[in-house]
Amino acid sequence: MPRVAPPEVDRVAAAHAAVAARRARASVKLAIHDRSRSAVDVVEAAWADPLATAEASLRVRELLTSIPTLGPTRTAKAMGELGIADSKRVGGLGVRQRRKLVEWLVHREHRDTPQRARLVVLAGPTAVGKGTVSTYIREHYPDVHVSVSATTRLPRVGEVHGVNYYFVSDDDFDRLIETDQMLETATVHNAFRYGTPRAPIDEALSAGKSVLLEIDLQGARSVRKVLPDALLVFLLPPTWEELVRRLIGRNTEDSAEQQRRLETAKVELAAQDEFDHRVVNSTVSTAAREVVDLMLVPKYNRSFTHG
Ligand code: 5GP
Repeated sequence: MPRVAPPEVDRVAAAHAAVAARRARASVKLAIHDRSRSAVDVVEAAWADPLATAEASLRVRELLTSIPTLGPTRTAKAMGELGIADSKRVGGLGVRQRRKLVEWLVHREHRDTPQRARLVVLAGPTAVGKGTVSTYIREHYPDVHVSVSATTRLPRVGEVHGVNYYFVSDDDFDRLIETDQMLETATVHNAFRYGTPRAPIDEALSAGKSVLLEIDLQGARSVRKVLPDALLVFLLPPTWEELVRRLIGRNTEDSAEQQRRLETAKVELAAQDEFDHRVVNSTVSTAAREVVDLMLVPKYNRSFTHG
């Protein structure tokens, strides 16, 4: 059958559309190249946003070669490893290929991209295990600076001054506040005062180290006010019953104090929506890993949002 040529106006319109599409793809590639967008961001837009036609029509090969550290040879090798044909477009990938591509890109981003130091606040209800998770992070992730708070309460058995807390008198605590050495302070459980010394945090952040603060809810709110870039993470118990069990089980408070802390925990649990992320503390090592993963923010990924 003879092919019917489209009318002249349609051909002109189609040519214009093709030029516009090529330009849109070129600007996506440029954004990946100058690191104002990550490749992960581009593929996720392609698959989630029906209007992201430039992203979806980009060939996978073009996407990969736009990444500054990937040349044509490494791109070809990666395409082979991923089992993606040379002509495939991002929008045309199947479910398994999409998953493999994202995993590959995320792995690469973490390995190759300088990380931005980030301040993370870990809060959550009393007895949820914040202390255990932050101790685990201190012991297993030396790249993270775990802040040591000052407190007016007495040390528990096994606690070491300068490691678990700086145990100070009321007068010393007053002096720390007066001399503007505290980032935030709070009176916790209507009893003792706790606070975060400012200088070690400034030092760690300027040395490019991420910082973890394990503090109460009031402290988390204060930090959000003074450092709006801080990431607030809420640690949750697997269940309420488990939280009660952990609080009674640790046996460090008398029963009146336990009751008071349970009441506080209920109020604290209700505040979880104010936080950027929630992590369930079922297993300490897994919860710790999740918290540390949140600190790995690619330096150039400006599109990172909380949530
Ligand atoms: P504990 O006495 O059991 O070690 O801690 C009691 C509570 O004080 C915990 O919820 C802990 O997160 C909180 N806390 C510890 N250090 C700080 C701090 O520097 N600032 C604030 N606001 N709370 C803290």
